[in-house]
Amino acid sequence: MISEKIQNAINDQIKAEFDSFYLYLAMSAYCQSINFKGFASWFAKQASEEQVHAMRFFDYLVDRGGRVALKGLDTPTLDFASIQDAFQQTLEHEQIVTGRINKIYDMAVAEKDYATQEMLNWFVKEQVEEEASATEMLEKVKMAENKPGNLMYIDKHAGKRGES
Ligand code: MG
Repeated sequence: MISEKIQNAINDQIKAEFDSFYLYLAMSAYCQSINFKGFASWFAKQASEEQVHAMRFFDYLVDRGGRVALKGLDTPTLDFASIQDAFQQTLEHEQIVTGRINKIYDMAVAEKDYATQEMLNWFVKEQVEEEASATEMLEKVKMAENKPGNLMYIDKHAGKRGES
């Protein structure tokens, strides 16, 4: 059986992952509104991944005999100054998520909850990738600064995320 403290932390994290889903969906809508279809698709894929993250925590809690508590979601920021701003916020958001995962890890270590540590190892690695991909997109978009042609080129490639 999982401790109440870890259960609460995981339930909070389920909400946080769905909040991430909502945030990236808002970013996708913003990109659509200014006709950057590739970035819109990139953010829509990012949003889908967040749903998968939420369900990983959800399923884990069920497997451990815990009780899932779904909470209301925050209204996401809809205020983006530019594509660069959206990626800047993405990076900052992922850094916050990394901090949250690390905190739950600390709790699991303190409680000698090895199963939760093992489950979280996947997220520790995933956050390295999340921060790296947000950084890469941010740096690319920064390079295109004030050059709409270059931004359109990056947009086209961003739309191919996940294809290779
Ligand atoms: Mg996530």
